[in-house]
Amino acid sequence: MKLVIAQMKHETNTFSPVPTPLARFATGSAEPPEGAAAVAAYRGTGSAIAAFIDLAEAAGAEYTVPIAASAWPSGPVHDAAFEHIAQRICAAVAQGCDAVLLDLHGAMVTQSYDDGEGELLRRIRAINATVPIGVALDMHTNLYDAIGQHSTVIAGYQTYPHIDVYETGQRAGRAVLALLAGQQTPAMAWGRQPMLPHVMRQGSDDSPNKELQARCREMEAQGALCASVFVGFPNADIEMAGLSAVVVTNGDPALARRWCDELLALAWAQRRAFVYQIEPLATSMAHAQALHAAKPAGAGPVVLLDHSDNCASGGTMDTMTVLGAILDAGLEDVAAFAIFDPAAVQQMIAAGVGQPVTLSLGGKLDMPAIGLTGQPRTVTGRVKLLCDGRYRNRGPMSRGEQNDMGATAVLDTGKVQIVVISNHVEPNDLAAFTAVGIAPDRCRYVMLKSRIHWRAGLRPLAHAVVECAGTGVCSSDYALLGLHKVRRPIYPIDAM
Ligand SMILES: [Zn+2]
Repeated sequence: MKLVIAQMKHETNTFSPVPTPLARFATGSAEPPEGAAAVAAYRGTGSAIAAFIDLAEAAGAEYTVPIAASAWPSGPVHDAAFEHIAQRICAAVAQGCDAVLLDLHGAMVTQSYDDGEGELLRRIRAINATVPIGVALDMHTNLYDAIGQHSTVIAGYQTYPHIDVYETGQRAGRAVLALLAGQQTPAMAWGRQPMLPHVMRQGSDDSPNKELQARCREMEAQGALCASVFVGFPNADIEMAGLSAVVVTNGDPALARRWCDELLALAWAQRRAFVYQIEPLATSMAHAQALHAAKPAGAGPVVLLDHSDNCASGGTMDTMTVLGAILDAGLEDVAAFAIFDPAAVQQMIAAGVGQPVTLSLGGKLDMPAIGLTGQPRTVTGRVKLLCDGRYRNRGPMSRGEQNDMGATAVLDTGKVQIVVISNHVEPNDLAAFTAVGIAPDRCRYVMLKSRIHWRAGLRPLAHAVVECAGTGVCSSDYALLGLHKVRRPIYPIDAM
């Protein structure tokens, strides 16, 4: 038995000005790892590709990993990057295999293709029309028919924050191996609803997604091989953005159809609960100060979420709106993670640790797709720390995976410690703070550029959370974004 195992992961925010060349899919090198280097990068981690590798080895299968390519969310993937990755995978399939196991995202948009995953799968099918293809997908998949038509088994994450990525790989991989062993015959049904759930309402600890994902797990306990609800990624101006579901049964297409339709009906009935009410920033700041004032002794920080500029949804991570409001309000004992500003880091390196600096911080990237220009802010402080910005996640999210903030500096204004980074990294793990010598549990306030994923590693520390609407391409204010290509009517843009 010979398997091709590969990874191609990118969540594309079509409004993001952050470019997505091939180098963004590599950590500390120009190209993503291939072969033994790809196995070494992911073996033992909490990723879906690690689950595929473990399953192949446990089954005694021969396997090849032509490429493992994962990039932080950003603008449309450059054609050259997509062609590089797709060519490696297709070449491996062309050499012959019994099955293909793919760790994909599901919301990749390239310069030429609105459905990057569907295009990859179409090319694989053109090489081998019958080879079983198992796919692990992110819960933020925007499902096109080509993804369903060209794969044999699809499994999606059932948690957001995504802490079951390895298990998702196991579900997809086991179903394909059982097919190869003649033990099971996957039958798959998929479908969409015309609805755009707001990302701030998608957490799987919250209703209604909590109940939707629980029903998926229940279906699997009742015999489904994989049951998935994809809440979708609305920061993408493509036809098929939005909610979908996929169910795989063992040889029962009618049951797969019925269960898929049940999940879609449950989601539609909850569409109003997926709408998010945005609070004015001034209200949020006052709320945060009141929460701090009422805190019992020894309580953890009040977390201020700058959710409009989350790099894990394609944000530039350099808008200064929320951090500016924190500075203007005079909040004390604040840790802010993080501002993406490589030039400011270089200025702090030139100044040296302990030295005073005045920086034009953040706001370097314009956002023409939403009509915003970058607004830097002059900030004075002392360089507290300089480091290489590399750390490994502790988990539960992305356990063991390498993160690379690039050259990193901490600017201490006396009231606020601002982490300034040179590569995009979302704060979803305590290791992001320990890497820069900050104990967030000891701070009065912590500002995070994150929407839901911060909960994975940092929510246990928080006394309270205030969701602050700043500026950025992660806004899910659909009127601001201007979704032109999405199919209509769609809720809540259209009253349905
Ligand atoms: Zn996701």
